[in-house]
Amino acid sequence: MFGKILIANRGEIALRVQRACREMGIRTVAVHSEPDRDLMHVKLADESVCIGPAPSDQSYLHIPAVIAAAEVTDAEAIHPGFGFLSENADFAERVEKSGFVFIGPRPDTIRLMGDKIAAKAAMRKAGVPCVPGSDGVLPEDPSEIHRLAREIGYPVILKAAGGGGGRGMRVVHTEAHLMNAASLTAAEAGRAFGNPALYMEKFLETPRHIEFQVLCDGQGQCIHLGERDCSVQRRHQKVIEEAPAPGIRPEQREAMGNAVVRACIEMGYRGVGTIEFLYDPASETFYFIEMNTRVQVEHPVTELVTGIDIVKAQIQVAAGETLALRQEDVVFRGHAVECRINAEDPERFIPSPGLITAWHPPGGPGIRVDSHIYTGYRVPPFYDSMLGKIIAYGQDRQEAIMRMRSALREISLEGIQSNIPLQRRVLEDAGFSAGGVHIHYLEALLAP
Ligand code: ADP
Repeated sequence: MFGKILIANRGEIALRVQRACREMGIRTVAVHSEPDRDLMHVKLADESVCIGPAPSDQSYLHIPAVIAAAEVTDAEAIHPGFGFLSENADFAERVEKSGFVFIGPRPDTIRLMGDKIAAKAAMRKAGVPCVPGSDGVLPEDPSEIHRLAREIGYPVILKAAGGGGGRGMRVVHTEAHLMNAASLTAAEAGRAFGNPALYMEKFLETPRHIEFQVLCDGQGQCIHLGERDCSVQRRHQKVIEEAPAPGIRPEQREAMGNAVVRACIEMGYRGVGTIEFLYDPASETFYFIEMNTRVQVEHPVTELVTGIDIVKAQIQVAAGETLALRQEDVVFRGHAVECRINAEDPERFIPSPGLITAWHPPGGPGIRVDSHIYTGYRVPPFYDSMLGKIIAYGQDRQEAIMRMRSALREISLEGIQSNIPLQRRVLEDAGFSAGGVHIHYLEALLAP
């Protein structure tokens, strides 16, 4: 096992990794930007290194600074967390070339899954169902594009091959708008991602977002940890996640779980990953949209229903240990719901950084709080607005929801604004309580 790990991230995920390392007896190095010296995990780490000023591109995204910090502290491995450099294949490569272990998949796997067209092709080849669409980059010829859209059937969605983070997409409802939409989206994609290539998919009107967690050792052993439902979204950003997904039957879970495991074995996947699908409840069909090659914000709901520590497992396989767990050892028990807590205006959704004058986290049976904030902590304006997550576990969905409602009432956060009022409202809503909402549910709830 590693003696020392460098955590190349900030906020709650850095603290989460720090906790896993502590439990495993691994020493830690925190790297941070200038305004981030007061982060909880920086105080708790064995060593810390300031890697640059506030802007991410001069600190958390600055590859030479991160590698240099690993060198001066003699860390053996680097954990990238999520966001920042976690899905940057060049970074993973640089880490390995510099003699450190990258806690994640091999660089070529990250690169393959980062190219959405190549990822789809790899999944289709492995027998994973994909959204019907163009088999590759859209052709140049407008008549070919028209033919393709007619074949797929309107509405269609144009997506940037190099896109991500919910950007670079445009829905087209009628033939008259197709070419104009294509040139606009290509131009935007060129500017935003340096790659104007587009592909086309059938636009699914009211799907659910359901994703499968995998855990693989890169040595032939791979298991899935079931699914999560992340349909409560705003602007393609997840707000509430839960496991298991309401209404998914054990045989559906098993069939899809087996399909994703086969795909991961085929590509020699190493580490933890998430395969995301849109799910059409009417036809009970899953359609692959993308794979995330890192630990996700919502991993705790899976940890609570399986009893498996995903971050510890991730570190173990990165250290070269073979996976001792077998699929039949994975038993799903109970239900877990996660609410993301963001520093933002709950109505206008603009970030609300500043000094936290009081913070009282919730507690009690079945409540887990993953957060780095404390009374007196100043939320900087430079980074993602997520302050942490409240996760509620219950024997069944009803108990998990009741515990979450109670937790959201107990919470007290003063000095800055947060989305806690929004979370309370969703948790009280009959549609959410019934379960199985689609991806436009929250925006419809918020519509004036
Ligand atoms: P990104 O990498 O930018 O997050 P994804 O391909 O994962 O892009 O899509 C993000 C979100 O966009 C999905 O969760 C879903 O809400 C919506 N979306 C993507 N593809 C489709 C589609 N074919 N039909 C309907 N909605 C889609």
